[in-house]
Amino acid sequence: MKKSLTILQLYPRDMNIYGDRGNTLALKKRAEQHGLAVTVVDYNPGDSFPKNIDIIIGGGGQDSGQEKIKDDLLAIKDTLHELANNGVPMLLICGLYQLFGKYFKTQTGHTIDGIGLLDITTVAGPERLIGNIVIQSEQFGEIIGYENHSGQTYLGANMQPLGQVIIGAGNNSRDGVEGATYKNVIGSYMHGSLLPKNPAITDWLIEKAAINKYSTFTPATIDDHIIRLARKYAKRRPR
Ligand code: GLN
Repeated sequence: MKKSLTILQLYPRDMNIYGDRGNTLALKKRAEQHGLAVTVVDYNPGDSFPKNIDIIIGGGGQDSGQEKIKDDLLAIKDTLHELANNGVPMLLICGLYQLFGKYFKTQTGHTIDGIGLLDITTVAGPERLIGNIVIQSEQFGEIIGYENHSGQTYLGANMQPLGQVIIGAGNNSRDGVEGATYKNVIGSYMHGSLLPKNPAITDWLIEKAAINKYSTFTPATIDDHIIRLARKYAKRRPR
């Protein structure tokens, strides 16, 4: 029987801006190119949390979207911690990156509690950090994306960032680092969509999930010349 992966898209109704759905589409396509069958399951507030999830993808959202999903997110907190601690790969962008941390204090001074899976805290700043962003990551090389957030995120002492900022802001206006990683969980401010332009991350998520499930993964050779052109073009765009 063909090997298969199930991807859970977290809160697509409220947390899905600047093309974040493209992450799920790219992941599905790429996993299929590696010879895996893929099922995508949407999870919205109030749904029952499905079993046998191999990868979790979550996007960004307005503060108002974050308000809509926050109670449900806290209700599934233990499940998400358990999955993360079992090595399930996850990619959380912007609004959900913030809420996988301890809290997000919004522009109006209201605090939205997060699930504390990542040791990060976020406080809205006076300016929005907007524009194309390029970072250098030890693990994935150069990562190219787009950011748009008011939140200024600070990493706890033992949190590893995803990378060092080359162009743009990243977690905050001060530290010069972007994103956070814990086990197989990546949090990042990078929209774009991120995965279509950064297949090294896509392949990593697929590999982690396939090894968790089948103990082995044999990648296919994929022709990435169009992706390389897209990366070259995206990198040349002004901030
Ligand atoms: N509302 C959050 C902020 O402005 C997240 C924004 C986003 O997901 N793009 O910081």
